[in-house]
Amino acid sequence: APGLYLVATPIGNLEDITLRALRVLRSVDRIACEDTRQTQKLLNHFGIKTPTVSYHMHNEASRSEELAAELAAGARIAVVSDAGTPGIADPGGQIAAAAIAAGIAVFPVPGANAAISALIASGLPTERFTFHGFLPAKEGARKTALEALPRDGGVQVFYEAPHRIVDTLADVEASFGATQHVVVARELTKLHEEFLRGPVGELRGILAARASVRGEIVLLLALSAAETTVRTTSIAEEVAAVRKAEG
Ligand code: SAM
Repeated sequence: APGLYLVATPIGNLEDITLRALRVLRSVDRIACEDTRQTQKLLNHFGIKTPTVSYHMHNEASRSEELAAELAAGARIAVVSDAGTPGIADPGGQIAAAAIAAGIAVFPVPGANAAISALIASGLPTERFTFHGFLPAKEGARKTALEALPRDGGVQVFYEAPHRIVDTLADVEASFGATQHVVVARELTKLHEEFLRGPVGELRGILAARASVRGEIVLLLALSAAETTVRTTSIAEEVAAVRKAEG
């Protein structure tokens, strides 16, 4: 049917493309790509010859109008991002909104997504979660964002850059204490996939001890309703204080 197809592509393992995604990418009139070179690699791998057109953060609004005009004329257009589900911490949402506003059918073609993949294998309760996309890069804003997280609000899911993860874990530790449980999911579906699950203080130590942290990362944590007081004194100091008080 004519319309806009939002097509998920793999986040690592190329086997994670769906049969439907392949059929749609083969049969549409063109594929709107976040980065045509990136998508061309995928298309070459699967022998797909459909023409591509680029759209990205900076031209998504203008490109959306062009594509909406083509769609109005009866075209079938697929939208893909560099990896995973378009529109999720990626462009694609504006094109979908423009198509909907123009009365054009929009079809999701679901598939890989880093946040959901991390969540289901995190070991955290999956009933309720909030996806935040990327945390602010600047320390002050990041701390503010962390402090604003709800207690007892389910799992909080973040995308994070590898060169910032140690600093972010330090911020989590400063805000919620070293024993706050966190999950770091790295390189999902890829050769070096890794899950680190445990107290934030420990995980920060493990990652800080590495020469460098590479790859793509999802960070997950759930804050319990019980107010956490961040310990500023050592246990030994506290024991000494109690002993002293007891005389
Ligand atoms: N649209 C994508 C999706 O559906 O997940 C997300 C795109 S966003 C620009 C890229 C970020 O997603 C990365 O910086 C990382 O935080 C996360 N991500 C993407 N692929 C990943 C993977 N294989 N393993 C862990 N995190 C990943």
